[in-house]
Amino acid sequence: MALRLYNTLTRSKEEIKPLEDNHIRMYTCGPTVYNYAHIGNYRAYTFEDLLRRYLKFKGYRVTQVMNLTDIDDKTIKGCMEKGVSLNEYTAFYKKAFFDDIDRLGLERAEHYPEATKHIAEMVQLVKRLQGKGLAYEINGNYYFPIAKYPGYGKLAHLDLSGLKAGARIATDEYEKESVADFALWKAWDENDGDVFWETELGKGRPGWHLECSAMSMKYLGETFDIHTGGVDNIFPHHANEMAQSEGATGKKFVNYWVHSEHLIVDGRKMSKSLNNYYTLRDILAKGYPATAVRYLLLATHYRQPLNFTFEGLTAARNGLERYNDFYNNLRDYPGANASGEAGSVIERALNGFEMALDDDLNSSAAMGEVFDFIRDINRLKAENKLSSEECNSALGAMEKIDAVLNLIIRNQKSADREVEILIEQRTAAKKKQDFVAADKIRSRLLDMGIMLEDTPAGTKWKRKL
Ligand code: AMP
Ligand code: ZN
Repeated sequence: MALRLYNTLTRSKEEIKPLEDNHIRMYTCGPTVYNYAHIGNYRAYTFEDLLRRYLKFKGYRVTQVMNLTDIDDKTIKGCMEKGVSLNEYTAFYKKAFFDDIDRLGLERAEHYPEATKHIAEMVQLVKRLQGKGLAYEINGNYYFPIAKYPGYGKLAHLDLSGLKAGARIATDEYEKESVADFALWKAWDENDGDVFWETELGKGRPGWHLECSAMSMKYLGETFDIHTGGVDNIFPHHANEMAQSEGATGKKFVNYWVHSEHLIVDGRKMSKSLNNYYTLRDILAKGYPATAVRYLLLATHYRQPLNFTFEGLTAARNGLERYNDFYNNLRDYPGANASGEAGSVIERALNGFEMALDDDLNSSAAMGEVFDFIRDINRLKAENKLSSEECNSALGAMEKIDAVLNLIIRNQKSADREVEILIEQRTAAKKKQDFVAADKIRSRLLDMGIMLEDTPAGTKWKRKL
């Protein structure tokens, strides 16, 4: 079975065949570190984590690069407003980003290059383009002449017939209506304050698009396998990256362009500019675990728009609880008689899971397979038809699945120990008929999010999600 992904370049699902045997090289446009990322941004990064983990599940070695955009129009504006240096300003949001991705269970990429540390590579790329007649200078600004590059517009399916010759755009972000020669390098002006580099191109700073071309090619080579981002990156960002890289090298830049749809709110893209966004911190402050956000984002196929609501998030938390309860109960399961049925249930689940993800990473169908599996194994348990060996195989299947979904919340050992000590104290208090003390301990545990259940076999506990 082979993985197929929808390639924006060809507008079709294609089987993924890496350039190098068994090794996938992929680039992911990372955050602009001018503020906290919102959960819309994390939809894109969670999709990329799913892709990365699934490629590993399929047996590939993965080299992933995610850049950190720490110099662009927005970071400069931010540091100027705050009156701090660019580095100080972006360092804060870089850390916040890594805290968030850890909470969301996103596996770390192999490289996180920062734009400010690759200015030399960017300058070289402009010079290379200049040598090919694909960069021109006006007042210290360097532009890419899109009319001279025949493939421009291929990725974004642009109609360039109405293009105004010589029109130029200097901002990093713009809409299709403004398609024009775009800035590779921007000469310093007073709005940039003390943010500039003295280079062979003059005093200035790179454009956002140039950063990704220079850093992706540095770490992954001039041609690599997969480039990802949200659909809003297709134009102008990825169209410009492709023009710069292919213009400079004369080679194909990327084989598979894969884009995830937006997280939307009331029909509009979640974004800072519309002020309709939640950061991960906002969600945590409302009492939801980060893993419920991960669940919510994975439960919809990445090419479907996903409407964010708190009802949806609550439903995700419930699904997450079922998933974790199933796993934890299986671990505590003593085992009964073998039925011989479990083997086929497990095989069906693993096959269904893989077939769904092979089909353009259909995570919502894959999760449907997992819940069918949960239902079937629970039925075997209820009918005393699951032996401890079969139970272990079911656990093994869950762990295989979870290497991709990463939804099992693994309790920290030391925190668990603290809970267990309190439960022992409560049991001792109850034995002494000291019910006041026992109740006090129960409510303390409840405050810690721990729920108790007294069973004939002793007190069981679980963490509230
Ligand atoms: P930015 O920091 O704006 O460059 O965005 C970082 C990543 O988040 C890019 O891949 C965007 O395509 C993606 N993105 C931004 N807003 C949303 C959204 N509402 N839903 C999904 N992805 C988004
Ligand atoms: Zn990029």
